[in-house]
Amino acid sequence: MSKYSIGVDLGGTNLRAAAIGADGVMIEKIAGSAAISAGPDAVVADMVRSVKEMRSRLGDADLAGIGIGIPGFIRMETGVVAGWANGPAFNGYPIRDAIEKQLGTKVILENDANSAALGEKWMGAGRGVDDLVLLTLGTGVGGGIIIGGRILHGQLGMAGELGHLTVVPNGNPCGCGNRGCLEKHASATAIAAMGRLMNLGPNLSSEDVFKLAQAGNDRALTIFRSMGEALGIALANLINIFNFPLYLLSGGPIPAWEFFSPSMLAEAKRRSFTYRTAATRIEPAKLGNEAGLYGAAFLPFQG
Ligand SMILES: [Zn+2]
Repeated sequence: MSKYSIGVDLGGTNLRAAAIGADGVMIEKIAGSAAISAGPDAVVADMVRSVKEMRSRLGDADLAGIGIGIPGFIRMETGVVAGWANGPAFNGYPIRDAIEKQLGTKVILENDANSAALGEKWMGAGRGVDDLVLLTLGTGVGGGIIIGGRILHGQLGMAGELGHLTVVPNGNPCGCGNRGCLEKHASATAIAAMGRLMNLGPNLSSEDVFKLAQAGNDRALTIFRSMGEALGIALANLINIFNFPLYLLSGGPIPAWEFFSPSMLAEAKRRSFTYRTAATRIEPAKLGNEAGLYGAAFLPFQG
């Protein structure tokens, strides 16, 4: 057998782990059970159990390493959680030490959106492209920047927090302390909130708004146009900064591409000379919710 690595993707509600070969072929995948709400110790124990299970089946001889994507800010040097949107109990938790102690081996930690960007670069829509940006549209908006084939970290590992780019000067307040953040105007949560504001129904999800748009509902179409504008402004800024060839979008709202992409691309065009001048692709990502698993598994191969 050739070398393999283990990637772990800790989501908001579930944990998945996969053994992936150096050639990018997934060997096996398992799902854990601990929810973030169970707290750091339970989540780490579940993660360790999943990894041990796979190691015992596939053996240590060919194991290249273990990469773990987590939905929070990590201080890359110390492996301590600096911030975790939906799990305040994780703040200040020394997650890397806790995992390494129980596993008895080194692990590589990464922010989940950064992992997803790396996964798309390795085996998804970014194959063969060394410079790209990924925006993940979900409860919030995550971002990952790949430059020269590697994740851009910044000084603490907090670069690429693209969900908090300001796209509306005095827009909706955000948990980060700012107003008008991209994620308050273009996440799945924001789409649902706009739907409720526009009286499209109570307990609405972004899928419900999508279905209404498909049925030709004017207000639902307006919501996606507004979401597209917010994305287009963010993308124009990113294109002006990086002049990369590729910008990818993933997440629940992607099926509504036909409804939000016209205004998104029009805004990008209007606001970015670079976009109008350089060959630049803005496209849906390909790996869906497996991007983070691939990216986490790629971390040990990257060295
Ligand atoms: Zn924000």
